[in-house]
Amino acid sequence: MNSIQLQDYIRDIPDFPKPGILFKDITPLLADSAAFEAAIDQMAAHYEGKQIDVIVAAEARGFIFAAPLALKLGVGFVPVRKPGKLPFSTHSFSYELEYGTDTLEMHIDGVAEGQNVLLVDDLLATGGTIKACANLVEKIGATVTGCCFLIELKFLDGAAKVAPHECFSLIEY
Ligand code: AMP
Repeated sequence: MNSIQLQDYIRDIPDFPKPGILFKDITPLLADSAAFEAAIDQMAAHYEGKQIDVIVAAEARGFIFAAPLALKLGVGFVPVRKPGKLPFSTHSFSYELEYGTDTLEMHIDGVAEGQNVLLVDDLLATGGTIKACANLVEKIGATVTGCCFLIELKFLDGAAKVAPHECFSLIEY
C-alpha cells in the first residue's frame, strides 16, 4: 500500500470546463479502492491527535473526501451547498470568483461557537472557496484548525490567500 503513488491516479483534462483550464480529474483515484483508501489514510494520519470537532466541506467533490475522513477521525460532517439545496435555516455567504461571485450555504446549527473545524476539499486552486468557508466558520465564532486537500495547485498560491490557516495537501503541482 505504501507503494501507491497518488498522482498516478490523477488524469489531466486540457481545456475543461473552458479553454486554458487544465482540469485535474480525480475519478481514476476514486475508482481504485486502494488508492482512495490510501488518500483518506494519509489525510487522517496528518490530523491524528489534533483537536477537531467537525469537518466542513463544500459540494460536490469536497464531500467525497470529507465524509470518509470524518468517519476515520470520529467526528461529524457538515455539508456546505449551493443555494436552495439545504432544507433547514442557513447561513448564506458569497465570495469572489475570477469573473463574478458565487454563493454557498450551511445550516445554522452545522457549526457551533467554540468548535474546532477542519475544512476539506478535493483541490486548492485560487483559495477563494476555502477562504469563504473559513470566513463563515470564524464569523460563527468557531476556529479553523486546518484546510485539507487531495491536490494543491501551488502555482496559483491559494495557500497565501488562506493564511494564516494551515493548508495540507497530498499532491502538489
Ligand atoms: P478555488 O476556489 O479557486 O480554490 O477553486 C477550488 C474549487 O474549484 C475546488 O472545489 C475544485 O474542485 C475546483 N477546481 C478549480 N480548479 C480546478 C482544476 N484545475 N481541476 C479540478 N478542479 C478545479
